[in-house]
Amino acid sequence: MPEPSFIGIDLGGTQLRVAAARLDGAMLDRRHATTDRLGGPQAVVAQMEALVGAVRQRDTVAIGIGVPGAFDGEKGMVLDIPALPGWNSVPLEKILSDRTGLTVILENDAKVAALGEWRAGGGKGFSNFAYVTVSTGIGGGIVAEGRMIRGFRGLAGEVGHTRITDHSAVCSCGRQGCWEAVASGTALARAAKAAIEKAPSSLLAKVAGEDAPTGEHVSRAAREKCPAALAILNVEAEWLAAGFANIQHLYSPQRIVLGGGVSNALDLMHAQIVRSMEERILSGHPIPEIVRAELGDDAGLIGAAYRASETQG
Ligand SMILES: [Zn+2]
Repeated sequence: MPEPSFIGIDLGGTQLRVAAARLDGAMLDRRHATTDRLGGPQAVVAQMEALVGAVRQRDTVAIGIGVPGAFDGEKGMVLDIPALPGWNSVPLEKILSDRTGLTVILENDAKVAALGEWRAGGGKGFSNFAYVTVSTGIGGGIVAEGRMIRGFRGLAGEVGHTRITDHSAVCSCGRQGCWEAVASGTALARAAKAAIEKAPSSLLAKVAGEDAPTGEHVSRAAREKCPAALAILNVEAEWLAAGFANIQHLYSPQRIVLGGGVSNALDLMHAQIVRSMEERILSGHPIPEIVRAELGDDAGLIGAAYRASETQG
């Protein structure tokens, strides 16, 4: 019997992306639209239905959705999506299933990206692997001994909110000291802004120009050897190493795959991350390989399709 196909949905605050794929990784069709944020759940679900209708194949059996917020996996209900107004207690699995006739399953957006990288990207073939995405925030997915770790009600793998310091800016979660508060792209941008105020004639200041400083500006200036930018990446590398070392002591992955915007600067930080991890990890134990994610923005889309396949048999 031929293999069935699955649909992955990447529900983003700006883009809604839908693809049909097979488990060998073949992407059969893909569509996207600008998420109708202000239209609320009703409008976005209608967009999903239309895009699913456009990509679905005769042999499509299930849909996986990466959710950028809190959800109840047992009830198939979205509880809250910070980037999308009105998404409170939306029984998304049932609504979309009723409209499409397909099985629907929800999953955390970082976990579907981890699943994509595990099955078809930088984690392929590893039974102990961690995926960490560092962009506006920090998310992750842990595969230990061949299984994605979800824990009770799915909190496992929320590495961004593990406490790593006593002193930090306020995190997106409202607390202080989280890894995300010191090592995310948001933290990088904050450091860039402070550096520019201190050194307005630096190359970093020129690269940012009139724009609000971003992590991207930092890595561009660092590639031109700007001392202010290199110093910021130095601090970033230390924080990443600290978080990676915590993950290592908890799960001992063979490989840590870094995704998200900040991963574009991994080559600039790699040597220092490795050096710092060697100091931080219990002696006698190997440090994991630290590599960049391979699937880019498609990790979540492909991973959501794989998640859908887990509903079968
Ligand atoms: Zn936090």
